[in-house]
Amino acid sequence: MIKEGQIGVTTGNIFPIIKKFLYSDHEIFLREVISNAVDATQKLKTLSDVGEFKGDPGDLSVRVVIDKDTKTLTISDRGIGMTADEVDKYINQIALSSANDFLDQYKDNANAIIGHFGLGFYSSFMVSKKVEIVTKSYKEEPAVKWSCEGDPAYKMEEADKTGRGTDIILYIDEENEAFLEKSKIESLLDKYCKFLPVPIVFGKKQEWKDGKYVDTEEDNVINDVNPLWKQKPVGLKDEDYRDFYRKLYPMSMDEPLFWIHLNVDYPFNLTGILYFPKVKNNIELQRNKIQLYSNQVFVTDSVEGIVPEFLTLLHGVLDSPDIPLNVSRSYLQSDNNVKKISNHITKKVADKLEEIFKKERTQLEEKWDSLKIFVEYGMLTEERFYDRASKFALLKNTDNKYFTLDEYKALTESSQTDKNSTLVYLYANNKEDQYTFIDAAKGKGYDVLMMDGQLDVHWLGLLEQKLEKTRFVRVDSDTVEHIIEKDEKTSVELSDKEKENLTEAIQSLLPNIDKTEFNVDFKSLGETTRPVQITQNEFSRRMKEMSAMQPGMAFYGEMPDMFQV
Ligand code: ADP
Ligand code: MG
Repeated sequence: MIKEGQIGVTTGNIFPIIKKFLYSDHEIFLREVISNAVDATQKLKTLSDVGEFKGDPGDLSVRVVIDKDTKTLTISDRGIGMTADEVDKYINQIALSSANDFLDQYKDNANAIIGHFGLGFYSSFMVSKKVEIVTKSYKEEPAVKWSCEGDPAYKMEEADKTGRGTDIILYIDEENEAFLEKSKIESLLDKYCKFLPVPIVFGKKQEWKDGKYVDTEEDNVINDVNPLWKQKPVGLKDEDYRDFYRKLYPMSMDEPLFWIHLNVDYPFNLTGILYFPKVKNNIELQRNKIQLYSNQVFVTDSVEGIVPEFLTLLHGVLDSPDIPLNVSRSYLQSDNNVKKISNHITKKVADKLEEIFKKERTQLEEKWDSLKIFVEYGMLTEERFYDRASKFALLKNTDNKYFTLDEYKALTESSQTDKNSTLVYLYANNKEDQYTFIDAAKGKGYDVLMMDGQLDVHWLGLLEQKLEKTRFVRVDSDTVEHIIEKDEKTSVELSDKEKENLTEAIQSLLPNIDKTEFNVDFKSLGETTRPVQITQNEFSRRMKEMSAMQPGMAFYGEMPDMFQV
């Protein structure tokens, strides 16, 4: 038997699901109701632009009002409003949005619209026992009042509202009375609505008078309707970007190192500003500070899966209506738009660094110690970024001089006598502890790199794979012996027994070391500066350092064969 039909949705069953599961965070209702108000206002502006709405639209602010007596939260706008037919179509049918209808009709002129799915409004039932809509369309039609108590039964009647626009009145239920607190609403407005394109008014501005705060006459607008990332980069000053950084991170004491202003409208829409922050000791604390917006509505501050992992260390704002928002992260990673956006951002970051390298190399050198963690992380995790960054990534030596990879190769080749063998780059990671080794290497004409960053041990492992015939050896490792030859035989010779005794004595002075990994060497006995040299095995030491990194930061690069013991 073949049967075709339509899957039926019984609204009575859907309400409890919406209440519980529509969003895991109940507080989202405020963002949804306010973004509807903003959409209605933007639509009115569009109609006014195309001449379909005549006259002065007046004050278009959206207002949020708490009434503790009636236990209501009201969100009012002066947007297009709804006729009875429209309430019937867009409100009484769950999951029907007017956004597509509107965009189809006015696609060339439409201001950005937030809505998509036609579910947002119903999220208000997550916190309300009853919701009323009182609305009057810009069209000459009577006002309508709609009310519903969280079950499929609703009531619609004519209302006596005279002004254009919509009031959404939420009767907050007992469990959610926190949403009637001024401070709670203030913090939610700050989180979700700080950069909406229409003024959002919450109460009056306050001033300090006679020992307390009192309301002034002036509306308290909580948002910045024209945030910096939406403005044209031409004409913006460095100070504007620094001010905006402080606005985004009021708690941060640091200035950003560099920034990138993104502004693309084809083949996808993306705006934003990314900042390179000053790096702190614990990079995990700096992760996920990028705020993601969709048409200026805050979506999340976790951009994992949307930008490449190394860029989650950057700060700033991304705004793209082309990033699908209500889907899972794993879906996002396979989404084509998201991939394009992610590649674009990676390219822009490489462009910016290359530009600084070419035009203001001293700037790059001055900030390199802070900056290098991004570059190294990017080179370790993104093949494409490695190719770009290998041109401008810098190596610093123990005299604080900076070299590109090519420059350093040339330097080492000039000082290393055997031109056919592997190039050996010596490095130190602690100038104080290793100074005798550094001195000795320099005395023999070798340069010594400084590798004391969090990712350096992984990074040099990567360079060993990528650069031909190159290896990195720490100045105090036992392999250095084979590279830096002794000038002459020492005059003092010890018997095996004497060596054994002396080794034991020295090892007893070094607590907590694994004796098998260290090598005590008396070859220089007789030299006054370094009578005895204690070296360790490069391979086992490096493996330990790599596995000591935080689990999230481990890169399992292969060790080159020459280190396998
Ligand atoms: P979406 O915003 O995704 O379209 P919602 O459930 O949030 O879905 O809203 C459904 C529809 O209800 C909107 O598309 C719009 O037509 C209408 N609507 C909701 N709030 C308002 C409002 N404040 N003013 C005018 N229309 C509104
Ligand atoms: Mg909506």
